[in-house]
Amino acid sequence: MNGRYSRQELFPPIGKAGQEKIQNSKVAIIGAGALGSASAEMLARAGVGHITIVDRDYVEWSNLQRQQLYTERDAEEQIPKAEAAKNRLKQINSGITIASKVMDIHGMNIEAVIKGHTVIVDASDNFETRLIVNDAAVKQGIPYIYGACVGSYGLTYPVIPGQTPCLQCLIDHLPAQGMTCDTAGVISPAVQTTAAYQVTSTLKVITGNSLEAVIQSFDMWNGQHTSIHARRLLNKNCPACGKDPSFPYLNYENLTKTAVLCGRDTVQIRPASHRDLSLEEVSLHLKEAAEKIKVTPYLVSFIYENHRIVLFKDGRALIHGTNDVSTAKGIYNRIVG
Ligand SMILES: [Zn+2]
Repeated sequence: MNGRYSRQELFPPIGKAGQEKIQNSKVAIIGAGALGSASAEMLARAGVGHITIVDRDYVEWSNLQRQQLYTERDAEEQIPKAEAAKNRLKQINSGITIASKVMDIHGMNIEAVIKGHTVIVDASDNFETRLIVNDAAVKQGIPYIYGACVGSYGLTYPVIPGQTPCLQCLIDHLPAQGMTCDTAGVISPAVQTTAAYQVTSTLKVITGNSLEAVIQSFDMWNGQHTSIHARRLLNKNCPACGKDPSFPYLNYENLTKTAVLCGRDTVQIRPASHRDLSLEEVSLHLKEAAEKIKVTPYLVSFIYENHRIVLFKDGRALIHGTNDVSTAKGIYNRIVG
């Protein structure tokens, strides 16, 4: 282990004191797709003492082009991304703690997930999750590093509670909203650059270096780069970081029970109350109605009414082959009740 972090310690803004802070820090990564994989690997190699990885999905073949922690075997075995990421990161650095959480983030569970962390890295694939995390991060005073990419374009911004305007303040000023990997695709250099900015901000926060309220955006294909100063965008009446915050995304009323997943032709259904399903039992019930039933310790997958369906232990389901929420809900109710 001798000298493992020597090159990082030689970098003056970090030094030996900064390295000690890195090893004593706790970073939560929300999402373990392309951005989450890239950030997690860099942070694990940097020696962040505790990394929590949260993701609701499992590894598929279309992920392997850019999600660097995963292998063909992970895709074949449909390993949940948080678990597959943990397994890989433990091989990269056995001296740190990795916590994996296979779960869907929403306004009711986010606060418990991020509690006690030094920094939160945004690696989610949808704006609703980002606003939920933003609300919770501002409420708990935890720095939150926003990041998004699509096509060859990427964008990052550090939300430092009490110092920089939050994501909610910036919402009308952020470009490329409404574009998804579904419509525009994504290339891995855009992912890597976005994650590189996010990890740099994360290391700066942990080591006590100052961060400016600057939105960094770039287009890798065209070699363009823009820095926008965001301090003037601070909204005194912001529902998250304003004088009288209501944290709207942490309210039960705003809890979404269904979500159309980015680029997947898939609807996710999340039951209102937590369930603890016996996957073996479920698969027995499905024997007549469904085909190609496959049970793993984490999920049961099968074909039902021409839709591929994946059901997790907590009652959450992914209904593939539709973007229609009511169709998906109907199918879900037919299977789980
Ligand atoms: Zn705000």
